[in-house]
Amino acid sequence: VAAAGPGLVGRIFGRTAGPQADAPRRVLDDAMLEELEDMLVQSDMGVDTALRVTANIAEGRMGRRLSATELKELLAGEIARIMAPVARPMPIYPRRPQVVLVVGVNGSGKTTTIGKLASQFRAAGKNVVIAAGDTFRAAAVEQLQVWGQRAGVPVMVAAQGSDPASLAFDAMTRAEAEGADLLMIDTAGRLQNRQDLMEELAKIVRVIRKKDPSAPHNTLLVLDATTGQNALSQVETFRKLADVSGLVMTKLDGTARGGVLVALADRFGLPIHAIGVGEQIDDLDAFDAEDFARALVG
Ligand code: GDP
Repeated sequence: VAAAGPGLVGRIFGRTAGPQADAPRRVLDDAMLEELEDMLVQSDMGVDTALRVTANIAEGRMGRRLSATELKELLAGEIARIMAPVARPMPIYPRRPQVVLVVGVNGSGKTTTIGKLASQFRAAGKNVVIAAGDTFRAAAVEQLQVWGQRAGVPVMVAAQGSDPASLAFDAMTRAEAEGADLLMIDTAGRLQNRQDLMEELAKIVRVIRKKDPSAPHNTLLVLDATTGQNALSQVETFRKLADVSGLVMTKLDGTARGGVLVALADRFGLPIHAIGVGEQIDDLDAFDAEDFARALVG
């Protein structure tokens, strides 16, 4: 994860402080805590989470002299503690087909993520079917077909503007007939008309439940990490529209400051199944709490 830029602690201790630079030490006082808090907020962690993290670091340590390395370890430890419970891959069930509904605003990386996931599942020996449920955006359907080809996975499409729920039903029928392990359903991401989107998603769910009352088995919300604190409001919105079971954070290779993942974990506790780290098919990594915490702290 290149999400942290120069690293939080390095900034507090000045440019010269590297892993070997155990001097200078700084007294952990209110001024230093405030700087730390500011850094965490600037990393997109949000005020509440930043305050809690700094309070935990302060506890029993005020007045102590800390080196950059010590502060890094403390901070990474605190962040890893928040992130460990959410670092969980997407659960795979014996159910066939396992239905994975993929939601998120347009541009968040839904199409790309579906392609990457399909490729990983294929590599793991699973039969996958994709349904291009965003039937209004012709470009999205085309993109998904390209990704399907790359991943070697069939993509079911419907006429432009046709009912996504009826496509989902057909896709269920095909996935069942073919004994597919996974059916991934792309959905529209037009948040401009929430009522409309809510009804569309609810109808998709209703229709696939006619075939399998336990479906969808996963509802993945794809979030663009570069949108910073917006990601938090997207979770709140989509949780009202769908029964979100897990997150995929995209674009962590870019300018994202990464702290938003900590805020998300702290606030919602939803599992982070994977992180997008580029535009290529293999650029999807499992989320590792320790690695992430170290990268963020820098
Ligand atoms: P959708 O509208 O939600 O389906 O979004 P797309 O999958 O079409 O992605 C929107 C843009 O983000 C495309 O240009 C993708 O190449 C890019 N993108 C998606 N995931 C990642 C990622 O993890 N890293 C980077 N750098 N770009 C990404």
